[in-house]
Amino acid sequence: MSEHVLLVTGGSRGIGAATARLAGERGYTVCVNYLQHRTGASEVVSAIERAGRHAIAVQADVSIEADVVRLFETIDRELGPVRALVNNAGILEHQARVEEIGASRINRVFATNVTGAFMCAREAVKRMSTRHGAAGGAIVNVSSRAAQLGAPGEYVDYAASKAALEALTIGLAREVAGESIRVNAVRAGVIQTDIHASGGEPGRPDRLAPTIPMKRAGEVLEVARAILWLLSDEASYSTGTIIDVAGGR
Ligand code: NAP
Repeated sequence: MSEHVLLVTGGSRGIGAATARLAGERGYTVCVNYLQHRTGASEVVSAIERAGRHAIAVQADVSIEADVVRLFETIDRELGPVRALVNNAGILEHQARVEEIGASRINRVFATNVTGAFMCAREAVKRMSTRHGAAGGAIVNVSSRAAQLGAPGEYVDYAASKAALEALTIGLAREVAGESIRVNAVRAGVIQTDIHASGGEPGRPDRLAPTIPMKRAGEVLEVARAILWLLSDEASYSTGTIIDVAGGR
């Protein structure tokens, strides 16, 4: 799959940025999508270009359908049709109990984490499926251990959105398995990124480290490597599967 066009949503920071950089090193042409942090996305593009591959940064809010359509049309025009997609863009909000969570917050979290992934997967399948005369492709969704643990007292809404993303992974994988498209997910544990600060606790990885079997939080590159494996032909017989990258269960 390398040398192919890859879209990483939310590629300006954290796990997405590490995935985009590693993909560049492995020979992919990369579209680095971002929401606000243009500078971060530009730095990732520069790193990929230093590795000798072509990359572009495209601003688009994956929770907005028209933005997703524009994102894929931009890729068609500037890089050619996508052959690989990483649905990485994801958000959570301040730690809270369910009794404090309102509908508007749930809708915001689901709009990015679930609807965004669905819309990107839809546009990708249109461009990858042998049903449409295309050559196939691979999709990797970035899920969370929260889907199984539920994130009580923190963000059950986020956990529920990741459970939905896992159902998308399983259902879409089965739907397009005969069309040369593989759909898999990585279920990340506690990884050192900015996302914990957006939940109101930047030190969360250090607090939780003693509870993890390996006694440490994970690094973004450790997640990126699993994503790149699932995208690659090395994973040619895997679809609808979810790999834990969480330092143990
Ligand atoms: P992060 O550091 O907060 O980065 C989030 C990325 O998503 C940024 O690039 C951000 O763009 C982008 N983004 C957010 N909303 C977007 C939208 N509506 N449209 C387009 N891009 C959007 O997060 P992270 O920790 O790397 O998380 C990446 C993925 O891994 C998420 O799906 C998250 O749920 C999942 N995950 C993370 C952990 C963890 O412990 N870190 C664990 C399990 C799963 P800007 O930079 O422009 O804001």
